[in-house]
Amino acid sequence: MNIHEYQAKELLAQYGVAVPAGIAAFSVEEAVAAANELKAKGATLFVVKAQIHAGGRGKGRTVKSGAKGVILARSVDEVKAAAESLLGDVLVTIQTGPEGKQVNRLYITDGVDIAKEFYLGMLLDRSRSQNVIMVSTEGGVEIEKVAEETPEKIIKEWVEPGQPLFAAQARRLAFALGLEGDAFKKAVKFMQQLYKAFEATDASIIEVNPLVLTPDNDIIALDAKINFDENALYRQPAIAALRDESEENPFELEAGKYNLNYIKLDGNVGCMVNGAGLAMATMDIIQLAGGQPANFLDVGGGANVETVKNGFKIILGDPNVKAILINIFGGIVRCDRVANGIVEAVKDPEIAAKVAQVPIIVRLQGTNAEEAKVIIDNSGLNVVSAVLLKEAAEAVTQALA
Ligand code: ADP
Ligand code: MG
Repeated sequence: MNIHEYQAKELLAQYGVAVPAGIAAFSVEEAVAAANELKAKGATLFVVKAQIHAGGRGKGRTVKSGAKGVILARSVDEVKAAAESLLGDVLVTIQTGPEGKQVNRLYITDGVDIAKEFYLGMLLDRSRSQNVIMVSTEGGVEIEKVAEETPEKIIKEWVEPGQPLFAAQARRLAFALGLEGDAFKKAVKFMQQLYKAFEATDASIIEVNPLVLTPDNDIIALDAKINFDENALYRQPAIAALRDESEENPFELEAGKYNLNYIKLDGNVGCMVNGAGLAMATMDIIQLAGGQPANFLDVGGGANVETVKNGFKIILGDPNVKAILINIFGGIVRCDRVANGIVEAVKDPEIAAKVAQVPIIVRLQGTNAEEAKVIIDNSGLNVVSAVLLKEAAEAVTQALA
């Protein structure tokens, strides 16, 4: 799960991580009030930042007003103008895709003098089963480019599970950034506090880009992105409450409510499969047969009438879907039960109306597969049964032609 920058900074501040002062705003009036509040505390320079679940805002532009996603403002009036140009408009950045994301929230924050910009990232390194902390002097720019072109400029430290980020490790990282004196000490503390926050919140990624050094030798997070491990959300109610559903794909959100594992993709063949591995294989086979999967959907072990119905509703909600491939392996679940579930689901008026235009190819293998095929073939519905996966994938791509 993703959260906004302002939420990430509020969270990190609770762990003693240095961040600039800032206030979230949902309207132009709130933005002006926020700027006045920061001004009363001594701010003379402000930055108005679009809050969307995507990076690259500084270089992004809004569709209507052409505004940048990160705007420097020298007065409360300039904050007001920046807020007006951003709120309600759609911001397109390298990470949003061409469709962009609507700006519904802003963060009004102190403008910070920057001496140097660094990169800092923390995440799980699966190949080592350890968390890794990475820093680079090449901050502000895309770290992917640094990793590709000058990997030696990314310095890493790995942390043993259950251990803290030790001072010696944080010192090695701060040293690699070329810091000294006060700034060096502050960077060590910053990294150790950040690692505590990472562990305590069940974060899967924390990225601070840029981490900055100020002319006064302060070390501050100017940007902060945090992702959380969804499997741990049950024990993080305060973090779960930060969820902004308007930032999420509506189909994926709906699927989550039905306990379905769904990821939307760009193709036109909807897939309904039991088991993540079989779902991956099904997507591959569709591609091999010349089609493009519209989604990944794992309906899980107990494919009953309800799960099949919900799966249909989500797949058919995507207007790109021109055919559906159902691929179920009956191990514990019996194929005839699944077949009855499919026939039952397709009778649902909402589904039936759409299925008339969208051919369905069903492949059921495993326990009671023959009975299942008879049920599908005799159903009188716009459903084709296939025995082999290859056959099924070819039938789907033919149905598209
Ligand atoms: P994104 O990564 O989405 O582009 P950032 O928060 O990293 O957004 O901001 C982009 C750039 O804007 C930063 O690299 C920094 O140079 C500048 N910036 C961001 N916040 C501030 C701030 N509070 N004060 C001064 N400059 C800032
Ligand atoms: Mg950034």
